Amino acid sequence: ASFLTMNLSRPIQKALTTLGFHKPTPIQAATIPVALVGKDVVGGAVTGSGKTAAFIIPMLERLLYREKGKNAAATRCLVLVPTRELAVQCFEVGSKLASHTDIRFCLVVGGLSVKTQEVALRSRPDIIIATPGRLIDHLHNSPSFTLEALDVLVLDEADRMLSDGFADELAEIVKACPGSRQTMLFSATMTDSVDELVKMSLNKPVRLFV
Ligand code: AMP
Repeated sequence: ASFLTMNLSRPIQKALTTLGFHKPTPIQAATIPVALVGKDVVGGAVTGSGKTAAFIIPMLERLLYREKGKNAAATRCLVLVPTRELAVQCFEVGSKLASHTDIRFCLVVGGLSVKTQEVALRSRPDIIIATPGRLIDHLHNSPSFTLEALDVLVLDEADRMLSDGFADELAEIVKACPGSRQTMLFSATMTDSVDELVKMSLNKPVRLFV
């Protein structure tokens, strides 16, 4: 497998070279082509498999070719992860992959000031990387914050978010997103509760287990 056959845009190719990502990992080779055509994806993948780039790259491509005008200034992508540490890691990989673009990220996690995050959210970042609890706080309490224009939702480490007790928060967030969005879900294990989440939040997903 090769990144070259994926027809990625120049800014992304440049970033991959800078990062030293010469060859896609198996989860990237499986996920990126399917996600680029807009399909929902369920991926069986653990930390260390390269799954972050597997969902960030299609997201960036979609933002680079966004329709001009419509919702141009609204948040288009949301990544939910179970912990602050994973959110920071995702933010760092994402920012590097986007370094040759004008795509803006925002981190929404516990431990950071709610007020500061509110200001950051008001500037309509393109991509939000969040933990479910803190995202719900903003949905409930930040009047101008909405997920109405969302194009892509990622549920990362879904099994862990569910076992950490975030099932209700996830259900509420999914309901706040438009039905027309693309959804990608990654999980190390496929439990009954993960399956339920898949049924609730994905539309005819392609299942990729590498
Ligand atoms: P992740 O599973 O997304 O947390 O990624 C694990 C590590 O693999 C990170 O440090 C990435 O920088 C690195 N990585 C991801 N994709 C590639 C790739 N295609 N080539 C080399 N390293 C990679």
